[in-house]
Amino acid sequence: IKKIAVLTSGGDSPGMNAAIRSVVRTCAYMKLECIAIYRGYQGMIEGDFKEMNARSVNNIINKGGTILKSARCEEFRTPEGRQKAHAQLLKNNIDGLVVIGGNGSFTGALKLNDEFNFPVIGIPGTIDNDILGTTYTLGFDTAINTVVDAIDKIRDTASSHNRLFFVEVMGRDVGHIALNAGVGAGAEEILIPEQNLGLDRLLDSLKRSKASGKSSSIVIVAEGDKTGKNVFELKEYVEEHLPIYDVRVSVLGHMQRGGNPTCFDRVLASRMGVKAVESLIEGKSNYMVGIRDNQLILTPISEAIKAHTAIDEELVRVSDIMST
Ligand code: ATP
Repeated sequence: IKKIAVLTSGGDSPGMNAAIRSVVRTCAYMKLECIAIYRGYQGMIEGDFKEMNARSVNNIINKGGTILKSARCEEFRTPEGRQKAHAQLLKNNIDGLVVIGGNGSFTGALKLNDEFNFPVIGIPGTIDNDILGTTYTLGFDTAINTVVDAIDKIRDTASSHNRLFFVEVMGRDVGHIALNAGVGAGAEEILIPEQNLGLDRLLDSLKRSKASGKSSSIVIVAEGDKTGKNVFELKEYVEEHLPIYDVRVSVLGHMQRGGNPTCFDRVLASRMGVKAVESLIEGKSNYMVGIRDNQLILTPISEAIKAHTAIDEELVRVSDIMST
């Protein structure tokens, strides 16, 4: 293998830049050429490539987002689109590809491999932490710290005014951000897509909380929670059924995706980038790099994209006990 390409695709996450830097520097260390592909699969189809060297990635380890830009590319979902993309890879003499992204990006990489036998290795870059085969995805640690920081601030105003806050966090399909940040920020209740605790339980919990003398309450709601109500509807519901509370809503939104990566994400990205390049050199393909018990592991991408990581039941129990 002589030349490796790297791209970021799908939703961006903090730590992607640190992973790009790691792939580029590992190539330099191993005396391989390295090509950056801009705008994910769209840039692959269009030949938006740039040669990289160790100095091309100076001062990016600390930056959120991705210097290579990310894109969603419909054309790559078609065999014709992938044919064009593959032609660009061949034209540029590229022998292997590192894809930093989520499930959709990995599915695209697998198809490229199926159709053209092109070597691909994935690095899981998503704040959702929902990919099988790794305890942590790149960006999750940064995102939960961002959320905890925001909730700490909301709590200051909540307790000054004896308010109840519904705070919406990202998580359409999974509640990992909600559960971890909720426990970390001491939320009263955490509503996640994996469990439907019902609205009665929420009201009971809020009543108990008020009766026990708590002056303010924070309820974390993942976007995809199963109550069937969004945060604004939850506010109305509680105001109607439990008029003892002054209720407010805060939707954290895209701030959760941004910001400088935590040290944890930077170290993880650096390790995963080395492993990805080494795996391609060893002739491996169709694997995703993950981490478990602090060891880097490879999982077939076909396994990694099969399902979302299950919620941590032990942490759910801890959260229940903490909200007593
Ligand atoms: P996230 O969910 O964290 O935003 P993702 O990688 O899952 O990240 P997607 O938007 O699902 O993001 O996918 C990114 C790109 O991967 C798509 O725009 C498309 O180009 C490619 N892709 C996704 N699914 C497929 C597929 N089934 N076949 C071919 N390419 C795909």
